[in-house]
Amino acid sequence: MKDHVSPAKGQVAPEQTLTNEQALSPEALEDTQRPLNADSLAQEREAVHHDTESAHDSRSRTDTAAEPSFEGCLGPVPRVAMLGGTFDPIHHGHLRSAIELREALGLDHVLLVPSHQPPHRAAPGVSSDQRLAMLEAAIEGEPGLKADGRELLRDGPSYSADTLASLRAEYGPQARLVMAIGHDAFLKLGDWHAADRLFDEAHVVVIERPDHDAPLPRALEALIQGREVDSVAALMARPGGHLLRLSLPTRMAISATFVRERLALGDSVRYLLPEAVIRHIEAHGLYCPSSS
Ligand code: ATP
Repeated sequence: MKDHVSPAKGQVAPEQTLTNEQALSPEALEDTQRPLNADSLAQEREAVHHDTESAHDSRSRTDTAAEPSFEGCLGPVPRVAMLGGTFDPIHHGHLRSAIELREALGLDHVLLVPSHQPPHRAAPGVSSDQRLAMLEAAIEGEPGLKADGRELLRDGPSYSADTLASLRAEYGPQARLVMAIGHDAFLKLGDWHAADRLFDEAHVVVIERPDHDAPLPRALEALIQGREVDSVAALMARPGGHLLRLSLPTRMAISATFVRERLALGDSVRYLLPEAVIRHIEAHGLYCPSSS
């Protein structure tokens, strides 16, 4: 099995990652309880575009106080998001979210990380290797998205806190590292293994999903208290520790469950997922219609 990770090497800055308390400015702490929507995203993108265009000076200007020598020696600070999941199978809801997330946050790339042994749900019926292969087929030719098979190399439950720690070690303490999750997964975040550690390693960005807008459980409220920011700029001011809720332009009500159900019935899944993934499913006889 090969590792599909192609992280930016050699970007380690001499400075320590700031603590969450240091990371949260008073403006950043303002809790709007609203996801950033398409209009505000357009404004944010304008700002991010400006930032990206002049990244080599503006990022160093923005970060000057915290990291005086970083830019000059080692180049721009990496901006990377991980979107983890079972991807059983990957579909257009995942893919549009990843593309729009990258644009909204001005990221270098989004890593799609299939879970080898999902800790919080039943084991998928399709192997990790096959799920990774479908993911690779889905993103072929899209430079902004990368398949990352690092969780397949670890035994035991695939905890996101461990995956983020490994990404942090690779990208360096100043990298802007984001864990992106859909709102359905976010609602369960308070029950995740080592949930606090997630914020030690990265920001959490929540992607709104149609039909997933239940109120936040109390354990989750406690976990995110004081972390929510209301702009991309506030998020990117620090390497991690913040929470941002995003309403991306395309909100697709597609789920892998729905895709699997259709496949099991022998119904068409065309246009719900990439043709290359459908071809892979057919070629390998995955999700076969039940014979009963
Ligand atoms: P299942 O139906 O099997 O639970 P899923 O479609 O929710 O699967 P996952 O692999 O569990 O897919 O999801 C990976 C991540 O992508 C999760 O954070 C999930 O919330 C998010 N996600 C899944 N589908 C969408 C969608 N249509 N729009 C936005 N985010 C999504």
